[in-house]
Amino acid sequence: MSFKYPGLSAEHDAYRDQVRRFVQTEITPNVARWDEAESFPRELHQKAAAAGILNLGYPEEYGGIPVSDPYFGLIMAEELARCGAGGVPASLMTHSIGLPPVLAGGSEALKQQIVSPVVRGDKLICLGITEPGGGSDVAALKTRAVLDGDHYVVNGSKTFITSGMRADWVTTAVRTGGEGMGGISLLVIPTDLPGFSRTPLKKMGWWVSDTATLYFDNLRVPVANRIGVENEGFLYIMRNFNTERTGMAAGCLGYSKVCYEYARDYAQQRKTFGKRLADHQVIRHKLSRMMLEITGLETMLYTIATVNAQGGNPIAETALLKVKASETFEFCANEAMQILGGHGFMRDNPVERLYRETKVQAIGGGSAEIMLDLAARQFKI
Ligand SMILES: Cc1cc2nc3c(=O)[nH]c(=O)nc-3n(C[C@H](O)[C@H](O)[C@H](O)COP(=O)(O)OP(=O)(O)OC[C@H]3O[C@@H](n4cnc5c(N)ncnc54)[C@H](O)[C@@H]3O)c2cc1C
Repeated sequence: MSFKYPGLSAEHDAYRDQVRRFVQTEITPNVARWDEAESFPRELHQKAAAAGILNLGYPEEYGGIPVSDPYFGLIMAEELARCGAGGVPASLMTHSIGLPPVLAGGSEALKQQIVSPVVRGDKLICLGITEPGGGSDVAALKTRAVLDGDHYVVNGSKTFITSGMRADWVTTAVRTGGEGMGGISLLVIPTDLPGFSRTPLKKMGWWVSDTATLYFDNLRVPVANRIGVENEGFLYIMRNFNTERTGMAAGCLGYSKVCYEYARDYAQQRKTFGKRLADHQVIRHKLSRMMLEITGLETMLYTIATVNAQGGNPIAETALLKVKASETFEFCANEAMQILGGHGFMRDNPVERLYRETKVQAIGGGSAEIMLDLAARQFKI
């Protein structure tokens, strides 16, 4: 947008500058190399903590920086996305899905053990919900945890897990009771326990995001590592869904802007048939349509954030926001690639990478089909 969303203050602007500087100096110059190598240095977590990124929004007592509104988190997600490689923010920030259940329902001892090292960037935590047998139907998960004295014995597998090869802990959804959502508990599983193993996965995009399949083979985890009450784990999974979805939408906003900016800059320099690409009406309209989608997404995102800040809980609109976000990103990556011509198809062009990363945004964190259906049910269609 050519204007700032009216709810944002000078403090938000300053935080945006702070994150942008970090991304420009520490991430963007390295992303192409890191993505090809399918790995980034682990110390990036510590650097991101020192820059007030990794620890934003967590309680001060554990080394976090509490925030007064949801805008800061969205600004951070958008600015991280400007590095132009979605796998970096996805893996750097897996604690944003792995840690909230610990904070919401973990014992004080568990929080003391886990939250500070993660928020400092010394240790990594990820979230293990999806299984080889299915991801959308969370309530049908099969990984089983059976009580044996003061331990659970866990058997099963999780797949597509971001930061899965490197994580020190996995916040894991397991079946402790009967069928359905009422039989699920959350356990924090340390990855150095006997009975834990993992294998890396090759992907279409997000090469650097460290995706893995995890295996639990008679793994014994203390009951003290359970989050909240037995068989009430589904509540803790659900509680973070809206925050995850608005964060993903903010990321898509950033990726869409990167696509737009690369296409605009190229269209202003490249000449065909005696004039700049940007002087051909067809190309100008493509760029305007990208801006139309970006402005629509940005307005929806910040309006929903404002409703959240005022204590609202717009579940249906947040589900639709996630769909709008992935579609906007897909549209912008597609149009940018077309404007860039052959250059867009080359591996050294960030739009080539972003184009390959569009689909994961429509699948992860609640797929488009599931989001549309959730909205339909909320609207009682
Ligand atoms: C790169 C990547 C990273 C990921 N990171 C994590 C992670 O860190 N932790 C984690 O737990 N999971 C993670 N996931 C998993 C992700 O959340 C799931 O892929 C997603 O929930 C969809 O589950 P699924 O792939 O098993 O598809 P399925 O559930 O098998 O669905 C397949 C297709 O059918 C559609 N579908 C399913 N049910 C319906 C229905 N009722 N009506 C209409 N259409 C339907 C879906 O939308 C999808 O298009 C990641 C996935 C990817 C690709």
